[in-house]
Amino acid sequence: QAFDLGKVWNNRFFGLGSAFFTARAPTALRDPYWVARSQSMARELGLQDNWWQSQEALEAFSGNRPLAGSQPLASVYSGHQFGVWAGQLGDGRAILLGELETRDGQSLELQLKGSGLTPYSRMGDGRAVLRSSIREFLCSEAMHALGIPTTRALCITGSDQPIRRETIETAAVVARTAPSFIRFGHFEHFSHNQQHDDLQKLTDYVIDRFYPECRDAANPAAALLAAVTHRTAKLMADWQAVGFCHGVMNTDNMSILGLTVDYGPFQFLDGFDPDHIPNHSDTSGRYSYKRQPQVAYWNLFALGQALLPLIGEPDDAMAALEPYKSLFPAALDRRMAAKLGFADSSEGVKTLVNDLLALMASERTDYPIFWRRWAQHLDGAPADMVLDLFHDRPAANTLLQQLQDPDQKFGQSPSAALALQSNPSVILRNHLAEQAIALANQKDFSMIQQLLDVLENPFEDHPDHATWSGFPPDWASSIQISCSS
Ligand code: AMP
Ligand code: MG
Ligand code: MG
Repeated sequence: QAFDLGKVWNNRFFGLGSAFFTARAPTALRDPYWVARSQSMARELGLQDNWWQSQEALEAFSGNRPLAGSQPLASVYSGHQFGVWAGQLGDGRAILLGELETRDGQSLELQLKGSGLTPYSRMGDGRAVLRSSIREFLCSEAMHALGIPTTRALCITGSDQPIRRETIETAAVVARTAPSFIRFGHFEHFSHNQQHDDLQKLTDYVIDRFYPECRDAANPAAALLAAVTHRTAKLMADWQAVGFCHGVMNTDNMSILGLTVDYGPFQFLDGFDPDHIPNHSDTSGRYSYKRQPQVAYWNLFALGQALLPLIGEPDDAMAALEPYKSLFPAALDRRMAAKLGFADSSEGVKTLVNDLLALMASERTDYPIFWRRWAQHLDGAPADMVLDLFHDRPAANTLLQQLQDPDQKFGQSPSAALALQSNPSVILRNHLAEQAIALANQKDFSMIQQLLDVLENPFEDHPDHATWSGFPPDWASSIQISCSS
């Protein structure tokens, strides 16, 4: 009675063997219903248009019925949480069903998150609440549309089954995909437990599948560390430029592929505040917006330590990490220059960006709206649209006047087209997610789908601009998102 998606499965993580996981099927979710689906994800997987239109499909994606070809498992990993070694963690509420061949011959792993207890659930219930499932689903697809590396999401199913958090909520299951869900914490696990053969096996697997260019390096493990460092530096530049705060950058939430993974108390900046802390539970601000790039380096260092038994010399690990210090700033400078409309960064462009950000920080200027209006201004809209965002209009004017004769000052002119494609009009701000969640709690799931449609084209100006691209309402600043999910 397994549900057949009509897909080829090739479950390579399962093939790594029992040191890496415990075979475990999802736990049934009572009387499930559909909450949302991503058609673009379904298309990428090569699913039929009607893939979801049966009771069997609903049962399969909520964990009530096996998927033909899947080999469900919970993987084991460890990690550093908030800077402290936390020991063994593992998939406490996610189950990896296996790996599917996509439309274009790639393959993607399929996980059900919130699908019940596993040997790694510790004190948890193995479940996820509807609110956090909606946030993960929407943000995965939004980040993908923004061109930022991320895990993705296919669908959410829900149930009236009660889930206890601070209050009683209801359960949901997100089906999510990625080429691999392997985290820094997987490497830390085998290293910490002195399982060096398994550490080698995991490293070989990741290199062979995802970093084949490292295979022939003199020191493949060091080459892998360097390659992950490179991808992570670019990811941090993407996050900082768009104003994304992850919220819980523990090493178990860092993807070995440089993907954004595990959407919890994340937030996109509204007013520009470098010290912003998205996670209400992060009392020390370890994971504030401005600290993310430094924390990523700290996490890469932990990965380097984990790989040390394979790398050999600590100097070789340090040499693999070192490029981060130039790669990250160079990548961020490029992205910030592009937001201004410049194809290349330069000292002059960097100074202007820094001066603008300092002014925005002092006024808490709305970050996405400033940049979008700047792009629109380059495209012909009056400068007042930008200047109106500032209390200190003369200060803003002085900065933007520098762009009156850009060729003279910067050796290049800003391009409206580049700025428009570097500054999204629609961002999954907390207040938009909250509105979709409030309706969903009343069993109205329509806004999730509407938001998804808009977020799939983030660089377009939507006709209903006020709803999707407007300033956050006053109540947005009192939304508190914690680790509880
Ligand atoms: P996170 O920081 O949310 O990515 O989760 C950290 C660890 O806690 C991971 O091992 C998760 O699988 C586990 N975890 C979080 N929530 C739950 C839950 N409700 N039940 C079981 N395990 C959980
Ligand atoms: Mg996690
Ligand atoms: Mg703040």
